[in-house]
Amino acid sequence: MDVLPDKTTLRHWLSAHRDRPRVLVPTMGALHRGHTSLFDRARTEAGRIGGEVIATIFVNPTQFAPHEDFDAYPRPLEADLALCRAHGVDAVFTPVAHEMYAPDRSITVSESRLSTTLCGASRPGHFDGVCTVVAKLFLLTQPALAVFGEKDFQQLAVIRRMVRDLDFPIGIIGAPTVREEDRLALSSRNVYLSSEERAQAPILQRALATTARGIASGDLATPETARVHFLAAFADATLARLDYFEIVDASTLEPLQSFGANEPRLLAAAFFGKTRLIDNVEVS
Ligand code: AMP
Repeated sequence: MDVLPDKTTLRHWLSAHRDRPRVLVPTMGALHRGHTSLFDRARTEAGRIGGEVIATIFVNPTQFAPHEDFDAYPRPLEADLALCRAHGVDAVFTPVAHEMYAPDRSITVSESRLSTTLCGASRPGHFDGVCTVVAKLFLLTQPALAVFGEKDFQQLAVIRRMVRDLDFPIGIIGAPTVREEDRLALSSRNVYLSSEERAQAPILQRALATTARGIASGDLATPETARVHFLAAFADATLARLDYFEIVDASTLEPLQSFGANEPRLLAAAFFGKTRLIDNVEVS
């Protein structure tokens, strides 16, 4: 596995491997089984197209608000590289911030429809940072395919929209959320939870899952009754503060007024102490 610490080494690697298509997995590091499931999926796709897997590890400053956890975000680079190696990644691009951003940079990629609600409402500017860095990583690594987790469902939808609207010639693959035994979605931020918060954190997924089952069975016939059910189930998380719960159309992220032809997706975010956790489920 090649470690590429800057754009020059990346360009040399790309020209040496010019004839092979690439499958990209962008990450911020602090890797866990959620990330490695994306590497495994990328490996499978790379095998199918005769290509190589390139991962990126970059804690992107522009997607953090000033009060958020950019400085505290875990950066265990050696352990991360070992996981990349163990999961068949061919090259890892690990730039530092000044490699990626000129001090007087003045261009931002901004999505104005899907990114205003949900996480975008509570984290203004976050998706501008995500779109800008992902667009740059796409241009720098020129992949045929890129793999993202459904764990960040809104991010996946925003990136699909960016690829469509800006004509990036890249196929986007969404991969399922990997969970702990108690169904808590794996997240690099779970390490911030106290043991009491960690004990209550799975209630977020449980409340989403029972609501989704109620919708699927017809017991929860309207979005409003589903919301009441979710809020009652989530009330067990006494240490948590709900940020949002929404039932949206899975592709447009528009809130649903009724259950009809659309494919509903349930998304929620909650603070456990200072730690903001997100999760989402489908209705099957
Ligand atoms: P991050 O390092 O948090 O920016 O995440 C990098 C990629 O890993 C994103 O596409 C995430 O959606 C994905 N990811 C994070 N957690 C999980 C998980 N538990 N299961 C599947 N994918 C995940």
